[in-house]
Amino acid sequence: MQEFECEIGRFLDIDPKKVVTVNTGTSAVHLGLVACGIEKGDEVITPSFNNIADFQSIVALGGEPVFCDVRSDDLTIKVEEAESLITPKTKAIIGLDYGCSLMDYEALLAVAQKHGIRLLYDAAHSFGSVRENGVKVGGSEDLCTFSFDPVKNLTCIDGGAVVYHDLEEAQKAKHMRMLGQHQSQELLNSNSRSWTYDVDSVGFRYHLANLHAAIGLKQLEKIEFMKSRRREIFDRYQNGLQGLSGLYLPPKEDLDNVFPFIYVVRVLGGRRADFIDHLKGLGVETGMHWQAGHRFTHFKSFRRGPLPVTEEIVEQIVTIPMYPDLKDDECQKVIDSIRSFFA
Ligand SMILES: *Cc1c(COP(=O)(O)O)cnc(C)c1O
Repeated sequence: MQEFECEIGRFLDIDPKKVVTVNTGTSAVHLGLVACGIEKGDEVITPSFNNIADFQSIVALGGEPVFCDVRSDDLTIKVEEAESLITPKTKAIIGLDYGCSLMDYEALLAVAQKHGIRLLYDAAHSFGSVRENGVKVGGSEDLCTFSFDPVKNLTCIDGGAVVYHDLEEAQKAKHMRMLGQHQSQELLNSNSRSWTYDVDSVGFRYHLANLHAAIGLKQLEKIEFMKSRRREIFDRYQNGLQGLSGLYLPPKEDLDNVFPFIYVVRVLGGRRADFIDHLKGLGVETGMHWQAGHRFTHFKSFRRGPLPVTEEIVEQIVTIPMYPDLKDDECQKVIDSIRSFFA
């Protein structure tokens, strides 16, 4: 586990002590929100278009998600609107990168700083991407969370990490991921254990098992290959699917920076179900990331801003296959299958 943290630190060009690996991306978001000090009644602004993990983590702390809309171009948070949703109860904002697009982190950070609240950067989609300032995602931002679940760009089968700016917060998180147990660092460093320990904080059983860390270390060795292969597939789709009326593609990205994650198209005109059936009939499996958070029974009573883009896109999005092992002819089959639907 420590070796994996060191390698992530090296990869991101940061002090490895800032990296706290955990058992899932959900645990990472949860621990990140603990660092934000979220307690009962505190509001956390999040896109409604987000992973359930984030909503559940807010609610688990007694907090209240406040649902914000996303931009229609890249489906990341609308920054001005997030600002307009801030009230005295707001403790934090969650922003995330989506698919093959990076959010405007600097603009969202400026809003958070102006209002004296924390920003949690959920970078589950963008491990290995590079921001415009030339720094890798997670290399400079405070409270950045990653997921290493089976479909993410880097996987440990199951795993996650939080990157903290503040070494003291990182140290606290290391106690929290081990049920709040606090053992002397010297003993831990010497690889022995004391039979006595103190419990000095709230705690969870969130540590990353060494078995998973070992898988993560191996995956990390292959990351440049996986990145370039995903870029090739992204390019093939962008070129092969152009010019179909009734289909929106993801925005063109500067592929020097982005490590493409999921490839999400939007099927217009209420034809999504037919589109999915058509592809399925041709042997092409699709996915859907995500349904809108504010529509789920468990979250529908929470406050929200206007959500016109979210309402529209959740009826249109379809995730098509993209993973490093996808062969060129399989990629072409996906393209041909989609083109035949619109023919
Ligand atoms: C995958 C994901 C998570 C949760 O990560 P797990 O490892 O599946 O728990 C959180 N946020 C986003 C944006 C994700 O895509």
